[in-house]
Amino acid sequence: MTFKDLNITEPILKAIEEKGYANPTPIQVKAIPAALTGKDILGCAQTGTGKTAAFAIPIIQHLQALKNRDKSIKALILTPTRELALQISECIDDYAKYTQVRHGVIFGGVNQRAQVNMLHKGVDILVATPGRLLDLMNQGYIHLDNVRHFVLDEADRMLDMGFIHDIKRLLPKLPKEKQTLFFSATMPDTIIALTNSLLKQPVKITI
Ligand code: AMP
Repeated sequence: MTFKDLNITEPILKAIEEKGYANPTPIQVKAIPAALTGKDILGCAQTGTGKTAAFAIPIIQHLQALKNRDKSIKALILTPTRELALQISECIDDYAKYTQVRHGVIFGGVNQRAQVNMLHKGVDILVATPGRLLDLMNQGYIHLDNVRHFVLDEADRMLDMGFIHDIKRLLPKLPKEKQTLFFSATMPDTIIALTNSLLKQPVKITI
């Protein structure tokens, strides 16, 4: 199995080749074709499995295919920590380098000014931690009405870190019509309840 077999388009294939990845990982083989058709995904997978590319590549490809790319946020990737947010952002940097898709990253613990400037310029994909996201939304700097792709990364860790209330406040602000890609290393009852309310007939992937 090669990345080309997964229906990935040329600008992204070229970037993957430059990364030196010979073959897709098992989660990429299962998740990428399903996500490219627009399906929701429930992925039970740890960090280290290649899950970042599994959700980032289909989103980049969907957005690259749009005819008119305005300044609005079209994909939101929610992750629990600043380190993960930065890692995801670096991956998108690499995979999107030969596309016109723009992205930005926000997290707490730093001055918000640079993040607000970035948001003013406009991004297609926003990578965010929950607290700073809600903070900037409440200040009116972020609007999520055009989000069509939503990723919840490391959902179990998100709950362990006490972000459940933030997530519950955020979810009603997202449009109903969207693709949701949900990843968690474990599936306790609270996570299953969350997936039941959030996902529509998801493709289930366990690695
Ligand atoms: P992740 O699970 O997304 O944190 O990825 C773990 C590591 O695997 C990262 O360093 C990626 O750069 C790397 N990686 C992702 N996909 C592949 C692949 N298909 N082949 C080799 N390495 C990969």
